[in-house]
Amino acid sequence: MRVILLGPPGAGKGTQVSKLTVAINTPSVSSGDLFRQHQKDQTDIGIQAQNYMKRGLLVPDDLTIKMVMEWIDSYTDSDGFLLDGFPRTYPQAVALDEALRQNNEGIDRVLNLKVGIDELINRLSGRIICRNCQRSYHLTYAPPISPGVCNECEGELYEREDDNRDAVQKRLEVYFDETEPLINYYSQKGLLTEISGTGSIEVVAASILDGLVNSTSK
Ligand code: ADP
Ligand code: ADP
Ligand code: ZN
Repeated sequence: MRVILLGPPGAGKGTQVSKLTVAINTPSVSSGDLFRQHQKDQTDIGIQAQNYMKRGLLVPDDLTIKMVMEWIDSYTDSDGFLLDGFPRTYPQAVALDEALRQNNEGIDRVLNLKVGIDELINRLSGRIICRNCQRSYHLTYAPPISPGVCNECEGELYEREDDNRDAVQKRLEVYFDETEPLINYYSQKGLLTEISGTGSIEVVAASILDGLVNSTSK
């Protein structure tokens, strides 16, 4: 099954994808995680992306599409994937459709995680992530077992450079301008399922599984 998770920054896409990838045994990727890994490794992609990322701007489409398509191509043996944070623009969505169509494939379902703006800001302002595996935590809503240490891999937890007030403001603006229109794009294709992203992490995870089961039984 090929699934996209759409939703504004802080909606809980990464948190949910890391649960879903285990629950339905399907590989997943986050374009943001890929960019942060490239930055850590100081690759060409990482160096080109970092100026955009720290200001809360989108990385240009050509670079982003190339990076994500390389990831997708590496999973030709698998019959699906979960995408978190890609596509985020109309050209990215079209490029993804075209690449899949060449293999007679397509997206099966797009889940749109809906969360109000005040809650997004609360979530982003307390987010900490693992330097090693990139899993995200929240200082009050989803704290790690030991402060500052990842439950999964014992990596160091840190606050992302772009989770400060100015960059968050910019990212939300960019989301409404560039990414929100994709809701309509996928809705017109009959692929969209709206999911309420408020409530506990477990409640949201149950709604997502429900949304996927109901969409495949139609
Ligand atoms: P995204 O990938 O959409 O930007 P994350 O999964 O990183 O979002 O979640 C953003 C922040 O909100 C993190 O600190 C995470 O721990 C927290 N979070 C995620 N889901 C919930 C939830 N249902 N309730 C409260 N906090 C949440
Ligand atoms: P969030 O958790 O806020 O949804 P991500 O970790 O997905 O953020 O993305 C962090 C940053 O990486 C974005 O602000 C942007 O600079 C860059 N990025 C990630 N995915 C994309 C994409 N599909 N297109 C362009 N830039 C992207
Ligand atoms: Zn970790």
